Amino acid sequence: MARLVMKFGGTSVANIERIKNVARHVQREVEAGQDVAVVVSAMSGKTNELVAWCKEGAALYDAREYDAVVASGEQVTSGLLAIVLQDMGIKARSWQGWQIPIRTSDAHGSARIEAIDPAALNEGFARGEVAVIAGFQGVHAATGRLTTLGRGGSDTSAVAIAAAIGADRCDIYTDVDGVYTTDPRIVPKARRLDRVAFEEMLEMASLGAKVLQVRSVEVAMVHKVKTFVRSSFDDPADPKPGTLICDEEDIVEQQVVTGIAYSKDEAQITLRDVADKPGVAAAIFVPLAESNINVDMIIQVVSDDAKTTDLTFTVPTADYERARKILENAKADIGYEGIHGATDVVKVSAIGIGMRSHAGVAARAFKALSDKGINIRAITTSEIKFSVLIGAEYTELAVRTLHTLYGLDKA
Ligand code: ASP
Ligand code: MG
Repeated sequence: MARLVMKFGGTSVANIERIKNVARHVQREVEAGQDVAVVVSAMSGKTNELVAWCKEGAALYDAREYDAVVASGEQVTSGLLAIVLQDMGIKARSWQGWQIPIRTSDAHGSARIEAIDPAALNEGFARGEVAVIAGFQGVHAATGRLTTLGRGGSDTSAVAIAAAIGADRCDIYTDVDGVYTTDPRIVPKARRLDRVAFEEMLEMASLGAKVLQVRSVEVAMVHKVKTFVRSSFDDPADPKPGTLICDEEDIVEQQVVTGIAYSKDEAQITLRDVADKPGVAAAIFVPLAESNINVDMIIQVVSDDAKTTDLTFTVPTADYERARKILENAKADIGYEGIHGATDVVKVSAIGIGMRSHAGVAARAFKALSDKGINIRAITTSEIKFSVLIGAEYTELAVRTLHTLYGLDKA
């Protein structure tokens, strides 16, 4: 029998009315004669509320208890959806992560799924039951403690379950009808993509597009899970397919650039007059790495006197203050004149696997941005993407400019 995983996010299960709507989507797929596993998030806003309660309870809280608290949102929605399905005459039961079990690492608050035993779910399918699974949570086998997978982790639960039960497809239902060329709120001409390659989706998610948790795309890519992003707000009787995330070979018309992403979660640090000698980069970046601060973009200016140089790089906004402190403390070791920072910056990125085979893609962007008077503070490139760091006030202008430049505007 064909197998399907359906995942519903917070806005799709926001109240009982929405949960009844979800049940109608599930009913359609059950009536098509498939084994169905449903993965649910907490009601929208619930996880934020639970997180806030932990912080109110104690400034420094036990991460294991945080997991016990925040995993509860999904427990509620899994039970509620099972109740509603049963009321419609559909056999269903809820599953918590530990009951399946979904085994994870013990990195509480951001645990990684290590193994999912499909046996119990298979028995449920054999009984003709829909499995309604609480997303976002698992269990650490050695300690028996509940874990959560990091914010947005239900996406990863869904894709990992699809891989574990050998599902033909994983449908991620959300409040938008697919993956767009860029954020439609800032570019009204953004287009929904019919297909996007795993690697592109991975970059888009990492670079700021918020549709899917990054880790879920990694899991889909590794296990080749055919994943659709689609809307739960479609009429359950007449749904649209959404966007398919798939192998690049399955994409016939490949664009050079597929999407433009932006992220405000970026802060800039510049060290002025750093001694231009071997070992300096290590003196700067090793202490940051040791404190688990991810440095992203780096530019070093070539000095004209061969004695000192300026070095600019970015860190996540959340780590900005910490990074500055570390560098100030290491001032004598590193040897620099001054430190400057800015948090009012944004990283705008263009993504497309077509960049592998086309030269000059980024160069066109630099020209287009400078024509609009936008100053580029840092650049990074990789095989299938490039990013520029610019002043946050230019976000919309830059995203729109690149969207038009690469022919992504909808007609
Ligand atoms: N409820 C969790 C969160 O808000 C997990 C999820 O929705 O994917 O992050
Ligand atoms: Mg989500």
